[in-house]
Amino acid sequence: MAQVTAWDAEVDLLVAGAGPGGMAAALVGALEGLEVMVCEKSGQIGGTASTSAGTLWIPGNTQSRRAGYDDSPEQAEIYMDRLVGGPKGRDLRSVYLETGPAAIDYYDTRTDVQFLPCGRHPDYQQNMAGAAVTGRAIVPKPFDGRLLGEDFRLVRPPIGEFMIFGGMMVGKDDIPRLIGRFKSAANFTHSAKLFLRYLSDRLKYPRGTRIAMGNALVARLFYSLRKHKVPIRLDTAIRELVREDGRQDGRVVGAVVDSGGRTLRVRTRKGVVLATGGFAHNREFRKAFMPQPVPVHSLACETDTGDGLTLAQAAGARIDGDQHRGGAFWTPVSVTRRTGNWRGLFPHLALDRAKPGLIAVNAAGRRFVNEGASYHDFVEAMFDSHKLVPTMPAWLICDSAFVAKYGLGVVHPGTRNLAPHEKSGYLTTAPTLEDLARKIGVDPAGLADSVRRHNGFARTGSDLDFGKGDSELNRFNGDPENKPNPCLKPIEAAPFVAVAVWPAEIACSAGLATNVDGQVLGESGDPIQGLYACGNDMASIMAGTYPGPGTTLGPALVFAYRVAMHAAGKSDAAGKAMAGREERAAAR
Ligand SMILES: Cc1cc2nc3c(=O)[nH]c(=O)nc-3n(C[C@H](O)[C@H](O)[C@H](O)COP(=O)(O)OP(=O)(O)OC[C@H]3O[C@@H](n4cnc5c(N)ncnc54)[C@H](O)[C@@H]3O)c2cc1C
Repeated sequence: MAQVTAWDAEVDLLVAGAGPGGMAAALVGALEGLEVMVCEKSGQIGGTASTSAGTLWIPGNTQSRRAGYDDSPEQAEIYMDRLVGGPKGRDLRSVYLETGPAAIDYYDTRTDVQFLPCGRHPDYQQNMAGAAVTGRAIVPKPFDGRLLGEDFRLVRPPIGEFMIFGGMMVGKDDIPRLIGRFKSAANFTHSAKLFLRYLSDRLKYPRGTRIAMGNALVARLFYSLRKHKVPIRLDTAIRELVREDGRQDGRVVGAVVDSGGRTLRVRTRKGVVLATGGFAHNREFRKAFMPQPVPVHSLACETDTGDGLTLAQAAGARIDGDQHRGGAFWTPVSVTRRTGNWRGLFPHLALDRAKPGLIAVNAAGRRFVNEGASYHDFVEAMFDSHKLVPTMPAWLICDSAFVAKYGLGVVHPGTRNLAPHEKSGYLTTAPTLEDLARKIGVDPAGLADSVRRHNGFARTGSDLDFGKGDSELNRFNGDPENKPNPCLKPIEAAPFVAVAVWPAEIACSAGLATNVDGQVLGESGDPIQGLYACGNDMASIMAGTYPGPGTTLGPALVFAYRVAMHAAGKSDAAGKAMAGREERAAAR
């Protein structure tokens, strides 16, 4: 713990990390009259969120209600209680539900961080009481990166695997229109416009400026911070916290930061906010909080090395990990081959697994999961299966007609020539299932039996083993035109195809214990004055469970709002916003 007598700078709030958690706290702080400084360890803003889908899970949000999708926060509370369970953390969950809509309205009306309702986007545990099919998910409005001018270069880009032509982002709604570009004049015009805009962008910018999803979220936060003249120091990492008079139990009164080779001592009048993205790239924390075998892949931004947790722990903070199941939020990923020796990761979130004509098997060639389950549940099933049969990797198995129609991982729909992908080592093909099994090291008899059984289910429309296609979530990601079951179709047209998938986290769940205002708690359970956490540095209120789309970004933005309000001495205003929600609910 540093003892500092001379300071280089003084602000109200010092925010460490320019991901969505940090930028949102900084933005609300600035709007509430605080003098704020953001320090960001890397050379770009956005963190992991810049590569994310950008969805927020906000039960009872105004944007959905206005669009005709009503929701009941009371039902959401029942759902969360069932899913997350236990009295521990219930206060944070309640406050989340109570503050969520008001916090989003605050961003929506007072900043450029604006949202659209997703409409139908089912919760991930459809069999649980309180689960919803519509109304809880929102996404950031797409953003025109040209508004940032030269600063657009400072926005961390999405992962290469999610862009086409080397730099063009496509939103979820663009995908069917691009695939069906020759099917209707409207689709063709839409696709042509996207392409022409992209060409003109590339004359001036390193990538397309029509941005969506998580990239739009961070760009919108950045744009708003610029408007409010909040300084963001890039290449600047928080290194140490400073306690009052150097006392171990003193208030946090500032921090030491490394800024481009210089050391700066920054005094804080109201507090330091830790929003450094969690511990994804910290080997020790991974070992401590993740299941065995500790996954080797991570989709988190490489600068998320657990700095917030390490600094807070040194200041006596408590890390909540025990109740967080696998310590993280998961997705299966396939390993892509980029040019040279580069490897990339493709997250199999929603585009292929639920579609008809694909199964996932372990080394015994046996199915172990409903392939249309959420990405998080899919990986939890991998961990379970691996206890008995090697399931790391698991294999997605389909036929070439499936790939041509729906795509597979990084292979786009419409692809008929799989040779380049096989040559690169991304996928494996074979003329028979037996050959395929031998090539990938899976039991041939097991695979043949699994495919035969699955094909029978596809013909009757009922998956008696795992219920693929039974839930709203499965059907949402399936193919509604496929009958009788939108998620089942025989796998029978050679060549057969396999791709290996591994677990990787999209975010951490274990993190710093906080109270409802994001104040970091010490081992005694009392808040450490002057120290806040949000985003993945804060232990997730979902405790390693995954209720629906937007499980981490929702809490990141809501608790960032509460942190800033508390630091500004306006927790009451956040409380009034909650009361407003109750009044609105009563008026419905
Ligand atoms: C493919 C993918 C899709 C996803 N989709 C969704 C989704 O749709 N909805 C959802 O809810 N979640 C989603 N997520 C998860 C979501 O992106 C993360 O939970 C979110 O980015 C966490 O925000 P954060 O601000 O805590 O961390 P980050 O976004 O990682 O930002 C942390 C920042 O802190 C900086 N930093 C690190 N150490 C220091 C230091 N010492 N000093 C200063 N700065 C530091 C980092 O450089 C980084 O810029 C997805 C993730 C992935 C990978």
